[in-house]
Amino acid sequence: MNKNHIIEEKHYLYKLTDGELDYYGLSKYPYLRYRSHKLSSNNCRSKLLDKDKMVMEVLKTLENVSYIECLKQETELITNNECVNKQVSYMSEEDKKNYWSQYYKDNQAEIKFRNKEYYNKNLEHCRQKGLTYYNSNKERLNKRHTCLCGGKYTFRHKCDHIKTKRHKEYLIKDSTYPNI
Ligand SMILES: [Zn+2]
Repeated sequence: MNKNHIIEEKHYLYKLTDGELDYYGLSKYPYLRYRSHKLSSNNCRSKLLDKDKMVMEVLKTLENVSYIECLKQETELITNNECVNKQVSYMSEEDKKNYWSQYYKDNQAEIKFRNKEYYNKNLEHCRQKGLTYYNSNKERLNKRHTCLCGGKYTFRHKCDHIKTKRHKEYLIKDSTYPNI
């Protein structure tokens, strides 16, 4: 949806309240939306309100404005009033930065914990992957090759072998010998 489009159908800004907590929203069909707010499957922040006491008040009808304008007006309601909405629908870049820096401050411990958990899980995963690779390629990885210089090396120590004195001297003596 292009947020700059002028809306053809009316949109409504509404407020839900249970007498203590308030929630603000924007909808084309506020009364249908009201019913979905009351469902037990409702997963938005309005679930914090007492469903039995919850009433809806339509605050404003919006028409012939852009959708982004609707979102801005909804955001103004949310930021200027005490309410349970946490996600602000429209934010300027600076608001977003402030929002996230505050979010990280408020959730620092949890974020750190999650990152650590992720790191540990991944570490185990990588270790397992490495082991599986090693086990299924063990023979190839441990096979001892005999080099033309007379030295021996395994796949994993090929680089070390190339740097040995013996191998280097051989290269100087026999310049036709290709790099292994
Ligand atoms: Zn060699």
